[in-house]
Amino acid sequence: MPLEPTAHIWHNGDLIPWEKAQIHVMSHVVHYGSSVFEGIRCYKQQGDASAIFRLPEHMQRLLNSAKIYRMEIPYTLEQLNTAVIDTVEANGVAPCYIRPVAFRGYGEIGVNPAGNPIEVYIANFPWGKYVPGNGGADVCVSSWNRLAPNTMPSLAKAGANYMNSQLIRMEAGINGYSEGIALDTNGYLSEGSGENLFIVRDGTLYTTPLANSVLNGITRDSILVLARQLGIPVVEQAMPRELLYICDEAFFTGTAVEVTHLRSVDRIVIGDGAMGPITTALHKAYFDILHGLAPDRYNWLTPVKVREAVAA
Ligand code: PMP
Repeated sequence: MPLEPTAHIWHNGDLIPWEKAQIHVMSHVVHYGSSVFEGIRCYKQQGDASAIFRLPEHMQRLLNSAKIYRMEIPYTLEQLNTAVIDTVEANGVAPCYIRPVAFRGYGEIGVNPAGNPIEVYIANFPWGKYVPGNGGADVCVSSWNRLAPNTMPSLAKAGANYMNSQLIRMEAGINGYSEGIALDTNGYLSEGSGENLFIVRDGTLYTTPLANSVLNGITRDSILVLARQLGIPVVEQAMPRELLYICDEAFFTGTAVEVTHLRSVDRIVIGDGAMGPITTALHKAYFDILHGLAPDRYNWLTPVKVREAVAA
């Protein structure tokens, strides 16, 4: 999807023009993948209102990803939240996708990152649907495994992890699928290249636990909360691949894909291929909050003042 530039990008405390947000080719991140980042959505609500979904949780995850990699971000959670709001309001674009990123910049060469400055940027831009197919996604089980424990930390949303995601995503696309689901190194279901996985069987909702090499998705957490609210039994457990073939419903969650139901896996149709009742109920509960149609009872929305126009 082509990137539509906005007017400003936040850099280390200042709003700078989009085209000035550049780095040197010898920056540490370019050679060694030393970045952590977030993906956040801002939604149009009723009337002129707009709101960012679970902003503090995303920025806390950014700080946690940085902590895992011993990156000292010189901003507090509150300062980062304010920086995101300032960026979105300055650019005046909603709905939009927000991409905060922190990385090791230009200084020394060599794997040890200690001599390189930490740079923090926040961009936002218009962005539409991620996984193609409104009628559900046709996905495959990837021949690539997800990250093995004690190799690359799955709970850090780090740029380098997305080399593995790219292998999964490219293989799926080349073979005619819209996404791939990776198994962990023990052969249990893990997650998509950029999505958590849910399965429904006999009225119970299952998702892979954090021990199966998944990112602790904020949409995953939201769906678990909403399922409990709707009285749907929820189980987090390791699952074999074949459960996907014989389940009643399956769906992905993620900031980009939101809640996207899976129509088939490895060309085996899930249920009757349509979005099932539990996925439909959770999809509705989720979207009703995002769009301000249901009360924000969990305090998931941060209001922002955004003009209608998309700045360029
Ligand atoms: N897993 C991976 C590997 C991801 O990249 C993402 C997207 N951030 C997710 C799961 C879903 O996380 P979230 O709901 O926080 O967007």
